[in-house]
Amino acid sequence: MKKTQAVGIDLGTTYSCIAWLNEHGHPVTIPNQEGELSTPSVVFFDQEDAIVGTEALRNAIARPDRVVQNAKRHMGNPEKFWNMEGVKYSPEHVSSLILRKLIASAQEQIGEITEAVITVPAQFSDAQRHATIKAGHSAGLEKVEVINEPVAAALCHVLGNEGLAFTELAIDQQLLVYDLGGGTLDLAIVNYASNEVRVVASDGDLELGGLDWTQVLVDMAAERFLQDFKDDPREDPGSHQFLALEAEQAKRSLSVRPRAAVTVQHAGNRRTYQIEQEEFQHLSKNLLNRSNVITKRILADNGFGWAHVNEVLTTGGSSRMPMVREALKKLSGRTLNSSLSPDQSIAHGAAYYAGMLLSNQQYTRTVFNTQASTRLAEVKQQSVNARGLGILIRNTETGKRVPHYLIPPNTPLPASRTHVFGTVVDHQTKVHVRICESGAGPGKPHTVLGDCLISDLPTDLPEGSEVEVTISYDSQARVHVSARELKSGISAEAEIFRQENMSAQLQEEVEIIEPVSKQPRHATVVNKSSGEIPVVHAEPERSLGEEWNAVSKGLAEFQDDLSESDQPVLLCNACGATLTSKTRCNACGAQANKPGLKTPRKKRSGKAKAGISPNTTSPKRKRKRPTSETPIAAKPAREQPSPEDEFWDMVE
Ligand code: ADP
Ligand code: MG
Repeated sequence: MKKTQAVGIDLGTTYSCIAWLNEHGHPVTIPNQEGELSTPSVVFFDQEDAIVGTEALRNAIARPDRVVQNAKRHMGNPEKFWNMEGVKYSPEHVSSLILRKLIASAQEQIGEITEAVITVPAQFSDAQRHATIKAGHSAGLEKVEVINEPVAAALCHVLGNEGLAFTELAIDQQLLVYDLGGGTLDLAIVNYASNEVRVVASDGDLELGGLDWTQVLVDMAAERFLQDFKDDPREDPGSHQFLALEAEQAKRSLSVRPRAAVTVQHAGNRRTYQIEQEEFQHLSKNLLNRSNVITKRILADNGFGWAHVNEVLTTGGSSRMPMVREALKKLSGRTLNSSLSPDQSIAHGAAYYAGMLLSNQQYTRTVFNTQASTRLAEVKQQSVNARGLGILIRNTETGKRVPHYLIPPNTPLPASRTHVFGTVVDHQTKVHVRICESGAGPGKPHTVLGDCLISDLPTDLPEGSEVEVTISYDSQARVHVSARELKSGISAEAEIFRQENMSAQLQEEVEIIEPVSKQPRHATVVNKSSGEIPVVHAEPERSLGEEWNAVSKGLAEFQDDLSESDQPVLLCNACGATLTSKTRCNACGAQANKPGLKTPRKKRSGKAKAGISPNTTSPKRKRKRPTSETPIAAKPAREQPSPEDEFWDMVE
């Protein structure tokens, strides 16, 4: 087994930090090559070189077109790219460059790093977690685990502040972790007792952070300059960038002084504007309100009052702003615990978690001293999912597909739920389920993770055969799906075909069954080795950049298809490829009315028909009253079922 260190990385929107656990089990921040403990999450593309950190930030004014900032706000978005001289960089690619920089300087100091824990906001979706893990792999890590940022902060508090005494704590403690960083607000209610750190609930906002407070100052100064010179500095990227850096400095000054100055320099004019703390607070009141609403919500939604909270723990660079602390103090009616380092505690917590994961490995005792390894082995942590996980079913009233969450938010992880679906025709070998996750917060739309294709069912199944599908979150809130045909006990292959998988597979040099641009409904990528879906080489070889373009275009269509189309997806029963014609499969050539291809069923008057029927105990679908575990009754949207429905519509 390879010896590795316990390394934690806080991959932040604006700043990143890397730490390791020394032999005593204490977290130590590893400075970067410039000697800084925090590295700006900024990349400057200087011809062939990618420069990361403060040096990149310095270049942001002179070459704003070559500098990428705040990539984390776009993590997991397959349509977001930065174009640098014809090369497209995705958010995860930019993140991997930042990670590479952190790891390279750390390796010079502590030796080879093959594994690390990377922190993510609790609100990150499955796709965003996968994108983070992929970025870690691209940066050269063999193994990457993720941990929610507020959980990392709680671990840091519990293990760091309490030290060994923590294990002797007799009573339960309830902690509210408030982490306001550069791009996100993360909240968690954490319970800790003797040896367990357990997250009870998490909440937050992926679009609220220090950047928004900086923007308030940018807008204030730009508006005044506009009044004075009839010219808007925000319209020129260089002037805008200069102003943003000025505003950042002024914001920090306002954390310790009653007033600060912001200088605007644009089109040959230069002027300095003063701002008072009081005015800054007034201009930012909407942002503070949003923070207050989420803080109240996490308590209310989970049946907590302030009386249940023993301590309010703050972290994240933006928690240094006096207005943020005052608001939280007023809301909670108590003194805040600000003992954690706002810049390093998340990385330290991740390093503790890395140590806890390593503690069940043999060689741990060669990395940590006995006391440290014993303590790390004793501590357990449990997290919750921030987003609901479920499947789409058809709403009886509207005929639209709506999410039905099988695993609600804030369920202790790992969590899994099993549903039994009935096949709808004889000899059905595949079932098609659409998996979705709830949005990041109330009112935010759900995300379709992709289609789960259950394949390899035995070929002789009669109509109504039961297929048990299990969807689950692992301990790091990543989604998994498995399926089993109940009569034969055969495990059918269940895989989510999603955008994330496609790009991941592409990197592993898989092939596209059809040119994406010619694939009107699905950009399906299959692994050559699977042998399941025939590979059609219809296009001349393309460069990786061209592949990316083609795939992202196809992915956009795929996403549109998943989120908006009311048309079910028709699959060839012989080979599983998406059908573009109702009578013939382009991939394998199977014909309608021939074995292996679904054909329309005869009308069955007045009876609901479906491709999959959840929670059916009998193969012949009986009508049941909906329960919390039963999807909403989903009558067929059409009188006459079509073959498409047979693959994935739901009935009660
Ligand atoms: P992230 O991990 O999201 O990058 P951090 O927790 O590292 O965030 O915090 C960075 C944010 O904190 C930035 O928006 C920065 O402007 C802000 N910040 C840092 N120090 C101060 C300060 N003294 N006053 C106000 N804001 C600060
Ligand atoms: Mg952070």
